[in-house]
Amino acid sequence: MELFTTYPTAKRNFFLFFLVLLLLILSGIFNIFQPFIVLLFSFFLVFIALLLLFFFGEKKQIAPVAGSQISTEANENGFRLIADQIPFMVWRSDADGKCIYVNKKWIEFTGLSYEGSLGFGFVKSMAIPENQRRRQEWWKMIKDHQPYELKFQLKDQRGDLRWVLAQANAYYIGTEFRGYIGSIIDITEQESSTIAIQEMSDRKDEFLSIASHELKTPLTSIKALFQLIERNIAPDHQVFRFLDRANNNILKLETLINDLLDVSKINAGKLSYDYSEFAFHEMLNDAILNMQHIAPDYQFVLRKSDPVIFIGDKFRLEQVIFNFLSNAIKYSPDCKEIIINSEVLNGNIIVSVQDFGIGIKKENLTKIFNRYYRVDNTIMKFEGLGLGLFISSEIIKRHHGSFWIESEFGEGATFYFILPLTNQHKHAQVITDEFSYYEDETIKIQILGDKDRMDANWTGYQNFKSVQDGCLIMLDLVKKNPCTKILNDNSEVRGNWSEASDWVSAECIPALAAAGITHVAWIYSPSIFSQLAAEKSVDLSDHIVIRFFNDKVSAADWLDSI
Ligand code: ADP
Repeated sequence: MELFTTYPTAKRNFFLFFLVLLLLILSGIFNIFQPFIVLLFSFFLVFIALLLLFFFGEKKQIAPVAGSQISTEANENGFRLIADQIPFMVWRSDADGKCIYVNKKWIEFTGLSYEGSLGFGFVKSMAIPENQRRRQEWWKMIKDHQPYELKFQLKDQRGDLRWVLAQANAYYIGTEFRGYIGSIIDITEQESSTIAIQEMSDRKDEFLSIASHELKTPLTSIKALFQLIERNIAPDHQVFRFLDRANNNILKLETLINDLLDVSKINAGKLSYDYSEFAFHEMLNDAILNMQHIAPDYQFVLRKSDPVIFIGDKFRLEQVIFNFLSNAIKYSPDCKEIIINSEVLNGNIIVSVQDFGIGIKKENLTKIFNRYYRVDNTIMKFEGLGLGLFISSEIIKRHHGSFWIESEFGEGATFYFILPLTNQHKHAQVITDEFSYYEDETIKIQILGDKDRMDANWTGYQNFKSVQDGCLIMLDLVKKNPCTKILNDNSEVRGNWSEASDWVSAECIPALAAAGITHVAWIYSPSIFSQLAAEKSVDLSDHIVIRFFNDKVSAADWLDSI
């Protein structure tokens, strides 16, 4: 109807109707018609006017719909205009994985035509070595709508291979998956420098390996000669004093050369291990006695040493303890007390070495186990190569253990390592109803249906296996009792779970998100190392809203407020 088409027409028609209405009312007042008929007719006209208003309102809503089609087209054109100006390659696929758009930069870079790139035409410019595997990955992603990141080689218009990094995200209209939108950047220069750096690093490792071997041989003969001299002079001879000093320096040199040799072997994957059964507590005691001999000024206090038989490389584990003890001495020049503890707990040996020396700042805590890393102690010069902790961490990892540090800067440091007695350690005591409650010595999980939440309380020392087991049980219970929130309490966690953080971030959090979890309140462990590991676990996570808390009350309040 013409009446509803435009806003001015509708306005005009309204005006006419109300004019007639007014005339009728006036005629009623002046008794031209019967008042009752006038009243009835007036009601009729008001009804018509309301109907008009209704349709007029509808009309106003319809107008923007037509406009939005225009604006979708305008958006598309706008998108293409902008994408063509972007200095890197941009592409879009549909929900079936076929390319539906490439920008100008792609055409310039690959030399392919626009039409030739669409569908699966873009594959012509790709030089992916494991083509088949990549394709499978692509189909999997299309299915799962996961973010996509891939480094591969692309042929430029001259046919030269260039390294590129492709990144893409799934895009949706409303809730409907429409495909992927992505970018590709040329990273050939960065790749070349990375390769060059790697080559230089390999050459350096090779040099260190040769140099340490070459140094070791003459040192061994110097050591033998000194021992011969020692045996042939009387203990009260004045040369004896010098011999003692020389021997100490030979020992230092030998440690440095051995560290260099070990690092070269670790780099080449050739550090060999000789596993046997031995009394761990005796080995610990011997290591402390040896250290006491080397550093007589220091007081070594062995607080606890649970007797335990362990299967591992005795020599290598002694090396770890030696390294922890010699660092404790080196980095506490003013406080001579060193406390050692070794206890057996839940199928693990936990060893700690505590000193009251210079301590370590929080920002350096996770780095000091890296190869060649040394904290910049510019005021006090401490000798060393920054290799001891790296080697120790490798040895501990090879025994399926882990390590961590607690430290207050300026007040000393405690170095820990944990060794599982068996890798297939079974949970000693499990209490569960297999549905909404689970408890063992490392975790207690319960579902609070009325609060739409699951509570997970982690306790004691954690390792990769305990974290993985705990997370899988949490996942199982969430699937059985759908809820959206988790109160993840680490306040009773001792030690760290750093080696599990990558797994938590890559596997566990996405799986919990897929099971319906949207919010996690994470209560920090008092262990700084563990706090850093927790933050690392959620670093890459954009699946779930995760907030950290220092106490349970604020964490629960936050979840309740959602
Ligand atoms: P190095 O002692 O030869 O430098 P390490 O790998 O044993 O190499 O230690 C790496 C770094 O960790 C050291 O340079 C030092 O800064 C820090 N560090 C190690 N042990 C301690 C400690 N007990 N107290 C303070 N800092 C320490």
